[in-house]
Amino acid sequence: MFCQEYPPGVLVIPMLSRTLKPFCKTNLVISAPTSSRFLDADVNINDSTFTGQALIVDPGCSVPTYNELVAIVRLLPKKLFVFLTHHHLDHTEGLPAVKRANSEAIVIAHEKTLKRIGPALYGIKYVSVTGGTKLLISGQRFEIIAAPGHTDGHLCLFHLETRTLVAGDHCVGEGSSIVDGNSGGNLHDYMNTSHRLLELAPKVVVPMHGRPNLLPLQLLKGYIKHRQTREATILKAIEAGATSAFAIVSSAYKQTNILLWPAALINVKVHVDHLQRQQKLPQGFSVEKFKRSCGLAFKVRWFARFVGSYAFQRNAWRLLVCLAAIFFVWYKWGQGSGEEEEW
Ligand SMILES: [Zn+2]
Ligand SMILES: [Zn+2]
Repeated sequence: MFCQEYPPGVLVIPMLSRTLKPFCKTNLVISAPTSSRFLDADVNINDSTFTGQALIVDPGCSVPTYNELVAIVRLLPKKLFVFLTHHHLDHTEGLPAVKRANSEAIVIAHEKTLKRIGPALYGIKYVSVTGGTKLLISGQRFEIIAAPGHTDGHLCLFHLETRTLVAGDHCVGEGSSIVDGNSGGNLHDYMNTSHRLLELAPKVVVPMHGRPNLLPLQLLKGYIKHRQTREATILKAIEAGATSAFAIVSSAYKQTNILLWPAALINVKVHVDHLQRQQKLPQGFSVEKFKRSCGLAFKVRWFARFVGSYAFQRNAWRLLVCLAAIFFVWYKWGQGSGEEEEW
C-alpha cells in the first residue's frame, strides 16, 4: 500500500473509492502518535480544543478496500477521531470498516454533513463542529476551518506546525473542483472560502484526490482566476442575447467537446446563480426562464446538435471513405475486366 509522509506528521494514503473521473482514489489522511508517551492522552470533546490520540480524515474507500482500512485503523490507538470534510460518498463510504475496526471512534463533522450522512453513520459516536475548533492529537495541533462552497457543510483542516491545509474537495490534484448546488454549495461561498484560505498562507495543500500541492498560493489564485474568466465568458454570452441554458452553454463552451456540454451545464447554473447574487445579470434576462430551460429542453437541443454535428460528421466521413473504397474497387475491377477483354 502506497503511503507518503509529507509534511512530517501527516500521512497520506490514496485508497480506491467511487469518486469522479479523472480520479479513482480518495486520500486518507492520518495523524498518529510518534511516541508512546502520547498514548496516555484521554479523549476530550467538551472544550474548544478536542484532544485525542489519533486522527483519520475522510475514510472514503469503497467496499473492495475495506480490509485495508480495517488493518490501518487497527494499527492506530483506540481513542481515534474520524474527521469528515463533507458528506459525499467518496469521503464517507469507509465508515462501516472504521466501525468494524474500532467501535470507540468518534466522528467529527459539520452538523449539515452529519444530517446528510444520517443512518450511514452506522451508530458511530459523533460530535458536530464549526470553524475555529482546535484538535490536539498526540502533540500535533490542528484547527478546523469553515470552508463552504463545494457543499454548505464543507470543512478543511489546518495543521498548524507545518501550515498544511487538508483541503477536502475545495481543491483537487488536477483540473478544477465542482460546486455541488444540490448540497447547498454555491460559488459565492466558494470564492469567499478561496480568499480566506489564501489568507491562511498554507505551505502545502493536501487535496483528497490527487497529490499534495507544494505551491498552494498559485493553486488557490489559479482557481479564483479560472472561475472569474469562466464567469466573464458566460456573462458575455448572456449580454449577447443568450437566454436559455443551451444557448449559453453552446456559446460559452463552443471550444469544448460537445460530449462535455451536459457537465458544463452544471457550471453554468452555478455561475448564473452567482451573477444573480451580484446583480450583474442584464435587465431582460429571466432566471426563471433559464431554470426551466435546464431540463428536458436542454437535453433535446443538445442531442439534436450532437446528432447533427458530431455524429453526422463522423458518419459522413466514414460514408465518404466507404464510397471511395467501393469506387476504387469498382474502378480497379473495371480496369481488370478491360485488360482481360484485351487479352
Ligand atoms: Zn465532494
Ligand atoms: Zn471527493
